[in-house]
Amino acid sequence: MTPFEQIRLHMRKAMQTLTFTEGEQRIFETPEESIEKEITYTSAGGGSITTRAYRIQFNSARGPYKGGIRFHPDANAEEVKALAAAMAVKCAVVGVPFGGAKGGVMIDPKKMTPSELESVSRAYARAFAPHIGVDRDIPAPDVYTTPQIMAYILDEFEKITGRSEPGVVTGKPLSLGGSHGRDTATAQGGMYVLDALLKRQKKVPQGMRVAIQGFGNAGSNIARILHDAGYRITAISDSKNTLCIPEGINPHEIDAAKKEGMSIADVVLQLQYENADNILCSPEKVLSLETDILIPAALDNQIHAGNVEEVRASIILELANNPITPEADGILHAKGVVVIPDVLANAGGVTVSYLEWVQNRQGYYLTKEEVFKRLLEIMDRASGAVFDMAESRKSSLREAAYEVGISRIHEAMKARGRYQ
Ligand code: NAD
Repeated sequence: MTPFEQIRLHMRKAMQTLTFTEGEQRIFETPEESIEKEITYTSAGGGSITTRAYRIQFNSARGPYKGGIRFHPDANAEEVKALAAAMAVKCAVVGVPFGGAKGGVMIDPKKMTPSELESVSRAYARAFAPHIGVDRDIPAPDVYTTPQIMAYILDEFEKITGRSEPGVVTGKPLSLGGSHGRDTATAQGGMYVLDALLKRQKKVPQGMRVAIQGFGNAGSNIARILHDAGYRITAISDSKNTLCIPEGINPHEIDAAKKEGMSIADVVLQLQYENADNILCSPEKVLSLETDILIPAALDNQIHAGNVEEVRASIILELANNPITPEADGILHAKGVVVIPDVLANAGGVTVSYLEWVQNRQGYYLTKEEVFKRLLEIMDRASGAVFDMAESRKSSLREAAYEVGISRIHEAMKARGRYQ
C-alpha cells in the first residue's frame, strides 16, 4: 500500500460510518491543488542544481491550508499527498481553524552545506510564493527542516511581497515572531493526551513504564517531559541500538551526550553504566519489550504484520506519523492494545503553530506558561471528543479520531456547497 492508500483506508472507514455518498467521497479524497515544480538552487561550488519540489493543498474547507515542508531524498507526490490529508484530519481533530497541506523537496539535506540549504529554502519560497500566505497556506518545519529554514522562507517571501507577514510560516525562530514552547509542543501535547487517557482508565502516571523508539526532536523531548512528570523511562532507541534499563533511565543525561553527536552506544560507554553488555540491544528490540506504554517517535511503518505479535505494550502513543500499518493496527485493536493515533497524539505541534499564527496576526505575544495552558485546554478537549466517540461507537481511538475530524471537515464542505 502507498502512504496515501493507507490514510485513505482510515478516511474511508469514517466516510462509511458518516454515510458519505459516492460523489462526496470522491470529492473529499481528492486534493484541491497539487503543485509540483522544478526548483534551482546554488551548489557549494557555485553551480546550479535543479530538483523537484511539491506543495499539496488537500483541503481548505475549515481554514487556510497548513502543513510542514519535508526535505528528503525520497520526497514524492504520493507521500506528500498522504501527509497533507492527515494534516487536514489532524487540524480538525484538535479543532484549530486550518485545512491541510504538506510540502516536500527531493534533496538529501545530510549531504548539503548550510549555504546550499539556505539557497534551496529561498528557491522553494520563490517558486511557491504565489500559493502561500497568512490567509492562504502556512508552511512549517517537518523532517529535516528547521526554524532557520522557516526564517529563510519568511525572509524570501517578504522580499517578494514587499510587506511584513510573519504568520506566513510557523515554527520560525523567536526573534522573527516564533512562539514560546513550539520546540517541545509535539511532545508536551503527547503527554497531555496520555495523561487524559490514563485519567479515563483511572490509572496514575507515576511509575508507568515507557519505551520510546527514536531519540530525535519528538523522542528526546517526550522522554524528558514524561520522566519529569514521574513516568519511568525504561528504554530508548536510535537507529543503531536500544538502551534498556528496567529500573529507569535518566533521559537528561542521555540528551546532553546526544547533543554532542554521540550515539546511544557511545553514551553507555561514556557514562560507564553498569552491566553495559546487557543493557544494549538491537534497535528493533524496543518494540517488543515488556512495558506499559510504547512510543514510536522515529519512522513510519515500524509496527507491521511481521512484528505486531511481539508487541507487549498495553498503550501505544503514536508520536511519529504512520508508525503502524493498517493491518497491524487491526491486530492490535483486536488484542485490546489501546493505540492513541498520530492525528491526536502528535497534534500538539500544529496546535502551538496555530497559537503562533494567532500571535503573529495580533502582534501580541504569549509567555510559555500561557502557551502551554492553552495547549492543555485544546488537547484535553480533543482527547475528550475522541474518547467519547470511541466509547459510544465501541471503536478504536483511530476510527474515533478520523470520525471526529472528518465529520467536522464534512460539515464545512457542505456549508460551503463544495459537493455540488
Ligand atoms: P528526528 O529526525 O529529530 O528524529 C528521528 C529519530 O529517529 C532519530 O533519533 C533517529 O536516530 C531515530 N531513528 C531513525 N531510524 C531509527 C530506527 N530504525 N530505530 C530507532 N530509531 C530510529 O525527527 P522528529 O522530528 O523527532 O520526528 C520523528 C517522527 O515524529 C516523524 O514521524 C515525524 O513526522 C513525527 N512528528 C514530529 C513532530 C515534531 O514536532 N518534531 C511533529 C509531528 C510528528
